[in-house]
Amino acid sequence: MTGVIQPDCLFCRIASGEIPAKLVHDDDLVVAFNDINARAPTHILLIPREHLTSAADLTEDHAPMLGRLFAVAAGIARDRGLADQGYRLVSNVGRAAGQSVDHLHWHLMGGRTFTWPPG
Ligand code: 5GP
Ligand code: ZN
Repeated sequence: MTGVIQPDCLFCRIASGEIPAKLVHDDDLVVAFNDINARAPTHILLIPREHLTSAADLTEDHAPMLGRLFAVAAGIARDRGLADQGYRLVSNVGRAAGQSVDHLHWHLMGGRTFTWPPG
């Protein structure tokens, strides 16, 4: 489901400030915050303010938001010194891929070694 904000959506409520989170970045298009259950020394979630269920809902119209989101992710990784070592930037789409929150998000994970393919 697509829309500017979904009142029952956890990440819409974090983006609006209704539910607290440790914000890392926040602008008119994108919000980034620490994952509540970090699976790596750095584990940040990046989301669009607009509610989109997953990457399956993206269209070319989302290009400005996506450009911003990936630039923010790259900046955070650089600022935290992750860029040289490498890091993971992933978005799970649907239950079989492990998506548990139905608001589009990318995991920015770093500070350890990751295996491929993921389990
Ligand atoms: P997914 O499983 O959908 O790819 O990722 C959802 C992520 O959201 C999980 O890594 C989970 O730990 C995180 N998460 C779930 N609830 C909350 C919350 O209330 N606050 C924060 N900061 N992260 C959450
Ligand atoms: Zn939402």
